[in-house]
Amino acid sequence: MAIKIGILGYGNLGRGIECAIKQNDDVELAGVFTRRDPSTVKIMTEGVKVYSVDDAPKMKDEIDVMILCGGSATDLPKQTPEYVKYFNVIDSFDTHAKIPEHFAAVDAAAKANGNVGIISVGWDPGMFSLNRLYANAILSDGKDYTFWGKGVSQGHSDAIRRIDGVKDAKQYTVPVDSALKAVRNGENPELTTRQKHTRECYVVAEEGADKARIENEIKTMPNYFSDYDTTVNFISEEELKANHSGIPHGGFVIRCGKTGWNGENSHIIEYSLKLDSNPEFTSSVLIAYARAAYRMSKEGQSGCKTVFDVAPAYLSKLSGEELRKNLL
Ligand code: NDP
Repeated sequence: MAIKIGILGYGNLGRGIECAIKQNDDVELAGVFTRRDPSTVKIMTEGVKVYSVDDAPKMKDEIDVMILCGGSATDLPKQTPEYVKYFNVIDSFDTHAKIPEHFAAVDAAAKANGNVGIISVGWDPGMFSLNRLYANAILSDGKDYTFWGKGVSQGHSDAIRRIDGVKDAKQYTVPVDSALKAVRNGENPELTTRQKHTRECYVVAEEGADKARIENEIKTMPNYFSDYDTTVNFISEEELKANHSGIPHGGFVIRCGKTGWNGENSHIIEYSLKLDSNPEFTSSVLIAYARAAYRMSKEGQSGCKTVFDVAPAYLSKLSGEELRKNLL
């Protein structure tokens, strides 16, 4: 019997989950839940209904795992501790500094209600975190490097859009090639923020806007751009739509380490992602962890978990026997 999945929040990730369910025959979509008027939210899967979030608790016996697709800034800190009272849940909470407090809130509610909540699932946090852990556990004498991109940063694009005279904008984070090369050569470089990434901005200015001022405001914006080499390209609205409407991303997690009595041998572990669609890839990770949450809950486990707490075999649709035969 397929695992019944609910989607709560229907944005980029919500749509990505629908696509991932289509590719996995051990899961099926049981319902989509939104805070908006359900009649205004059109989904792709035929025969599945869109409900108001207010109806979710009533459907607790019809859904095995609820995937929470709200935003990390304000939605998930409220939604995950709330909905784990009724369901096993998965979220993609990515505010790294606040993960410990989010974990504590979800853990208390999950344990009180006997459900499993797996938080901060995706690629970073998520698959990148897992690969950092594996590499650190193996090469204890070493150094970690994470590079992001080339990819769209939603937060930086939003920050540009808030500047007076800007109609629309897209920002790409780009790893610096020479820094990547030095790391891969095992040179163990000390890299500043500026030496690791550059920022490329594509901006549509309003008619008559002062482009020089806009460019200066972007390049000097503290926290977002002032610590980076930033290029600003002014383009037309049509160009932005034609060439910059995707949501690609990716990056590299690299650990360089030494072994041997005198540290004479070097090793490099690298995990890399090149994603055409950040939300569709993230959703595929979320589905694998939904499978794990279902299995862990069936075994009687409860409480909050992260990717660190989930054994790899729980992620696969193959049985332990099939895994040992085919993948070992
Ligand atoms: P969106 O902004 O597309 O969606 C967030 C929420 O906004 C939805 O759940 C939806 O809730 C609401 N919403 C969406 N579209 C509309 C609309 N047209 N009108 C009104 N409300 C709308 O965010 P994403 O799906 O792109 O990302 C969600 C979170 O996932 C991000 O905040 C990010 O933190 C996280 N993430 C994590 C990753 C990781 O690697 N860990 C990677 C990628 C993303 P409702 O239906 O209830 O209105």
